[in-house]
Amino acid sequence: MSELNVTQGEDSPVLFLHNIERHYRQGDATLDILNGAELAVWPGQSVALVGPSGAGKSTLLHLAGLLEHPDAGEVYIDSVATSTLPDTERTRIRRDDIGFVYQSHHLLPEFSALENVLLPQMIRGLSRGEARARAVELLGYLGLGQRLTHRPAELSGGEQQRVAIARAVANAPRVLLADEPTGNLDPHTADHVFSALTQLVQASNLATVVATHNMDLAARMDRRVTIQDGQVVELD
Ligand code: ADP
Ligand code: MG
Repeated sequence: MSELNVTQGEDSPVLFLHNIERHYRQGDATLDILNGAELAVWPGQSVALVGPSGAGKSTLLHLAGLLEHPDAGEVYIDSVATSTLPDTERTRIRRDDIGFVYQSHHLLPEFSALENVLLPQMIRGLSRGEARARAVELLGYLGLGQRLTHRPAELSGGEQQRVAIARAVANAPRVLLADEPTGNLDPHTADHVFSALTQLVQASNLATVVATHNMDLAARMDRRVTIQDGQVVELD
């Protein structure tokens, strides 16, 4: 396993995309979505990934989350190169070290908010008691202490997304990846969900990358990046 030596202060980036290439064939043409893209994110840091539809935001998040392989380049999670790992190990990293939030909540409809946050922890091997304690704490932290037994259909859109965030971090991942998590919400609710997310990131020393169209929300994160000509470009 190759180790990486990029440091900032005493820390290494928890997520490092290095020289990433991703090309799609479309008929006779090739779409160069990522072309030598670089992105390093440190613990406790929040990064907004902005850009128009089709820029490659979801592609970059899928690569960072080990859901896809780049055509070239390397994705390091906690300084571990992931491209040559067996699928079982990539799946373990995805389960233990990476949390995902999508535009739609993808919660299990027959289960309560509490159960939705508890189940991934039990799948990982925690006892029901331990998992429950953490689920209650997380949902309380996200302002859902009075909504534990509600099913997704009995929650508002903003509440559903906060449960989805709680579920994504239930197993204490190192990296949280969110793909337009407030894209379906009205501006006020989006603002509220974003606040919950950024507070959680700071409190838990997570690293997060959030794709969003909303520049007001992006302005509240530590960094803003976009994708231009296949490269990740720092804004500001
Ligand atoms: P964004 O999330 O910024 O809207 P995407 O990462 O979803 O952008 O897509 C970037 C570009 O790559 C788009 O032009 C899209 O059509 C193209 N694309 C995405 N996935 C595929 C695929 N599996 N095959 C071919 N083209 C794709
Ligand atoms: Mg997208």
